[in-house]
Amino acid sequence: MGPTATIKLSALQHNLQRAAELAPHSRLYAVIKANAYGHGLLRAASSLEAADALAVARVEEAVLLREAGIQKPLLVLEGFFNVEELEAASFHQLEVAIQQPEQLQILRQNPIKKPIQCWLKIDTGMHRLGFQPDAVDAAWQFLSTHESVAKGVRVMTHLASADDLADPVSQHQLKLFHSLTQKFSTATSVANSAGIIGWPEARSDWVRPGIMLYGASPMQGRTGEQDGLLPVMTLKSRIIAINSFTKGSAIGYSGTWICPEDMRVGVVAAGYGDGYPRHAPAGTPLLVRGKRLPLIGRVSMDMLNIDLRGLPDAQVGDEVVLWGDGLAAEEIAQRAGTIAYELFCGVTQRVVFKEIDG
Ligand SMILES: *Cc1c(COP(=O)(O)O)cnc(C)c1O
Repeated sequence: MGPTATIKLSALQHNLQRAAELAPHSRLYAVIKANAYGHGLLRAASSLEAADALAVARVEEAVLLREAGIQKPLLVLEGFFNVEELEAASFHQLEVAIQQPEQLQILRQNPIKKPIQCWLKIDTGMHRLGFQPDAVDAAWQFLSTHESVAKGVRVMTHLASADDLADPVSQHQLKLFHSLTQKFSTATSVANSAGIIGWPEARSDWVRPGIMLYGASPMQGRTGEQDGLLPVMTLKSRIIAINSFTKGSAIGYSGTWICPEDMRVGVVAAGYGDGYPRHAPAGTPLLVRGKRLPLIGRVSMDMLNIDLRGLPDAQVGDEVVLWGDGLAAEEIAQRAGTIAYELFCGVTQRVVFKEIDG
């Protein structure tokens, strides 16, 4: 008896539609890296039929998709790191981001049979991957004349703080990107989910929505619902035990929570061994029969405790929503000092996944 993650495919499709509505003049890479943010790589790939293309972080992820018969254009956001990956990219006709001189070197030294579609990635302020502004022209020159590279090199960048509308860095990044790439007159890509939702100028030829497809808002202090998104994953479990304790009883490991009165305490079959965050503090909401009840005590590996004072008729066997329908993952993430991305990616192997369409 443990948690179930229900994946609502119709919500995934709704959210893709929502991204398309926000960026009506853009084509769309549905980002499904990291096992589709924990939702299931192949499940997401096949249900996102309406996306123009798909994107993953690594060559291995793309190869899995090709081997499963996925034929859409497929972008590898970090590109290749050795000759084997370059050859796999060529063989499987993957699109690759070219983001550092080492990748040009690999291209130079290893001729390939089928040319690959390349995206020149420029660092405009994220300071993670990408060519520095002063190296852009040389990299462009190399790529646009190299025989291993398909004609029509494109350009991309990544926004560092698009989730914060008050941060001026996005505006700087957009300007710098435009000034560096305008002369190439080629297709561009800038926006992740936060770019799509918050920065109209970032909605260029191609957009790259990730988290919004899974129903969570990337914007600070907002939930997906406020951005017209629907939760895709609902993580649920059940109450497996109910006990009555007297005032002063200490609950759970290290006895961090003390009953303020005589009360009923439930035990829910979900813990950090399932991906529920151990740092979720007392007071983090759980949903039982549509009612929000607080977590109490420390989250343990397989179980957590719930204060049942707000629901006198709660029973062993009652379903408990940990996040998803009716309880935004963003809220749980915020309580636990993290983001919904990490909660979704952290759901563990032992959780049973179920798909539903509606
Ligand atoms: C992960 C990623 C995205 C998607 O980001 P979200 O915030 O999930 O929308 C887009 N572009 C790049 C380069 C990424 O690494």
